[in-house]
Amino acid sequence: MLTYEQARNKVIEEVGKSKGPRATQSVSVWDALGFVLAQEVRTDREYPPFDRSTRDGYAVRSKEAEPGAGLKCVGEIKAGDTVSDTLAAGTCLQIMTGSAVPTGADAVVMIEYTKREGDLVRFERAAQTGQNVVPRGREAAAAQTILTSGTRLGYAELALAAQVGAVQLQCARRPRVAILSTGDEVVLVDEMPGAFQIRNSNSVSLAAQVRIAGGEPVVLGNAADRIDDLGEKIERGLKEDALVLSGGVSMGKYDLVEHALKAMGAEFFFDAVAIRPGKPAVFGICQGKPVFGLPGNPVSTMVTFELFVAPAIDLLSGAEARALPLVEARLAEAMNEKSGLAHFLPARIEWRGQVPEVKPLKWQGSGDIAALSKANCFLVVPSDKERIEIGETVSVLLRKDVI
Ligand code: AMP
Ligand code: MG
Repeated sequence: MLTYEQARNKVIEEVGKSKGPRATQSVSVWDALGFVLAQEVRTDREYPPFDRSTRDGYAVRSKEAEPGAGLKCVGEIKAGDTVSDTLAAGTCLQIMTGSAVPTGADAVVMIEYTKREGDLVRFERAAQTGQNVVPRGREAAAAQTILTSGTRLGYAELALAAQVGAVQLQCARRPRVAILSTGDEVVLVDEMPGAFQIRNSNSVSLAAQVRIAGGEPVVLGNAADRIDDLGEKIERGLKEDALVLSGGVSMGKYDLVEHALKAMGAEFFFDAVAIRPGKPAVFGICQGKPVFGLPGNPVSTMVTFELFVAPAIDLLSGAEARALPLVEARLAEAMNEKSGLAHFLPARIEWRGQVPEVKPLKWQGSGDIAALSKANCFLVVPSDKERIEIGETVSVLLRKDVI
């Protein structure tokens, strides 16, 4: 049985093989959050476009602004002002943050280090050449590539694109991820379940996880635990870029997902991973499309999505697979776990002291969505650990959606 790291690497290896040119679309900078760039973005001019003051103060010739020395202030420069005159020797100009520093001046002295006496400005300390001035072109040259193809667009990247006037961006089309739940007991979320039925919550969590991962969910509803119904709906799902099923991958008599996928020509790379929850997770390629059979217990579905499906969506978006958001924390209470499988336990991490502390939450097993809704992370217990003492350093998988 593969470890979760091995299984994840297998997904990355197999999905990575199909790295061809991907369909792209033009997206407004206002709507492009989370998209992956499919073009380079270049500067339209030098940045900064002029020698820019980074402080409110006085533009000076640094040699003249000696401690105790006085310079006559002959005017002011506001941000946005056109600056063409040279600073005359023996004078200074009041200047605001973001303004252009005039030629002649080679430094800005912060207002805090000056004293004003009428027209005269006295300096409390020596000025250094270049201080508080970002010279034209220092951040980027003209026509310099500042964002490369394959970059995921977060708020800083979007601001950078906006800064250079790239308001329409060619991006990779978001991979469409079909979501199919399975189970005779499952009804759609807007239906009233019978006494022994349950609502299809997995499709809701999966759709949210697909969105967060940068994909576009295509929710296909629920298939009964019958080969014919599964086959029909899987066929529909294979029209999309990837297919994620929930349920029907355990050892039960009616767990038929693997059979149905096999009948449609799937090649499997794993059908069990040494983790709990989530052990029966399945990954294969079917008719050229990545397919994932995730166990149906809601917390298992959520964990296995993060471990195995999220990196596939990265790759299908034309980006690198992002690393798992694992951090170290101090265990707040001793715990015992059965060894043999790596455990992902609902937990809360808090940043109160110098090091983060994590505490596992009480839960009723992998059907307990309520426990997970109180968690902001999973405490990762390695497969060879039976007891962890209070104060030990443990690994924590962050829930990116709530942290
Ligand atoms: P399975 O993996 O099909 O054996 O299902 C495991 C458990 O998860 C069972 O208790 C199912 O009722 C539950 N389950 C399966 N599919 C869903 C779903 N779509 N939404 C919520 N719970 C589910
Ligand atoms: Mg089932």
